[in-house]
Amino acid sequence: MNCPDIKFCEMCGKKISDINDPNTDWMSHIRIKYCPECAAYRRKMNRRNWASKNTDAHKTVEAFLGEYSTLMREQVSELKEQVKLIQEENDLLRKEIITLRGNM
Ligand SMILES: [Zn+2]
Repeated sequence: MNCPDIKFCEMCGKKISDINDPNTDWMSHIRIKYCPECAAYRRKMNRRNWASKNTDAHKTVEAFLGEYSTLMREQVSELKEQVKLIQEENDLLRKEIITLRGNM
């Protein structure tokens, strides 16, 4: 594996790990990319990005549901209107049938 003996922070260039130091753990030397300050900063930025993305998605869903429920409400009231008309028509027809029977 091509890993330098001495590693520097990818953001600020500070020396972060030296494999020749007896306290340095090989695995963490391979993994490390940033100094503790830059790593903390990156974590914070990632969290913020995720949070704002999440908020946008939430807003989109809310907008969609808002539009959708308005549309549904309009359609439901239209359907209710139609049902009312059909019931009125039905009533008239029933009365007409009764009248016709009475005349037979
Ligand atoms: Zn750094």
